[in-house]
Amino acid sequence: MAVKTRSRPRTSSTSRGGGAKPAKTAPAPKKAANGAARAPASVPKAVPKQLPSLALRHIWSGEAEIPKTPLVWVNGRLVPKNQAMVSVYDHGLLYGDGVFEGIRVYRGKIFKCQSHMERLYRCAEKIHLRIPVEPEQMVQVQRDCIAANKLTDGYIRLVVTRGYGTLGLDPRKCPIPGVVCIADQISLYKPEFYESGMRVVVAKRPKTPIPCLDPRIKSLNYLNNILAKVEAIEHGCDEAIMLSLDGYVTECTGDNIFVIKNGRIFTPPLVSGEREWGGLLEGVTRRFVKEELAPLCGLAVEEKLMRIEEVLEADEVFLTGTAAEIIAVTQVDETRISDGEGPITNKLRMKFREIVSGDEIPEN
Ligand code: PMP
Repeated sequence: MAVKTRSRPRTSSTSRGGGAKPAKTAPAPKKAANGAARAPASVPKAVPKQLPSLALRHIWSGEAEIPKTPLVWVNGRLVPKNQAMVSVYDHGLLYGDGVFEGIRVYRGKIFKCQSHMERLYRCAEKIHLRIPVEPEQMVQVQRDCIAANKLTDGYIRLVVTRGYGTLGLDPRKCPIPGVVCIADQISLYKPEFYESGMRVVVAKRPKTPIPCLDPRIKSLNYLNNILAKVEAIEHGCDEAIMLSLDGYVTECTGDNIFVIKNGRIFTPPLVSGEREWGGLLEGVTRRFVKEELAPLCGLAVEEKLMRIEEVLEADEVFLTGTAAEIIAVTQVDETRISDGEGPITNKLRMKFREIVSGDEIPEN
């Protein structure tokens, strides 16, 4: 896409040495400080390749373009979506300084609410952020949002930002953290993928190592994952497997990964490699599958350090996440894993559906 650049015309009042009369005839090229004629505005040599979906179509011009629903809880007020704003001085926006949670609502119940609360407060603590709302109040905020939007099945996004501050990194300059709760819908992958399985790639970009930024922290700083996701999009799919700097399988950009071989189920450990570089988010769904769902199906999940070859040679591969739930992977790069969803993945997914559509939806 060609990018047009518009430069502001230089007027006599804005030119240096103001006060000179405007020239009646076309002015001679201005001289740079060293006396050389000023070069025309430079045009970038190579326009970066742009994804169609990322192409800049217009500049957002105001709340009229955003729908009014749902109602969003922003720092203590329930406001229409088109008025749900945070300060441009918020360090969540300026630096990705903050934490968040994605939570499912099934039949009016907040699935694994307590686990999500524990992770949110634990992650906030790890980045030295004190959430100005007690966990019980945070749960109430979610219930209020669900009720206000008459939501029975949907998705909650909780965001805690460092808050508004000054134009520098110093978090001490942000006196009050910002809290946002959105109760809406989410649809991550095409519904047919849940039966046919999906194709993923192995990202060339390694996962941020634990000593740099621990991936166990669900922070607002997701660029590492987003850029790996862009790799997937460039290859015509929706997810990418991310390897640690020393080449171990960690997780995907927004989902945890499970591998099945000869009836045994494996998932990478939270910390991996001799130098403990490889890390991943301890997904609430990952833990639910490992500790509750698999045992309910008479299965066991083992943590195992894996190279990508073990994924490629698997009988079945599946991903888990709050938004994704449980979804089969049938192809990794050019390697076919299975023809459609495998039997063990199917068993787990069916049990998952049974639980989240039943009367005993766990909120613990
Ligand atoms: N890994 C990453 C990087 C994630 O962002 C997520 C959540 N989307 C997951 C794994 C899955 O975590 P959960 O099951 O808690 O949603």
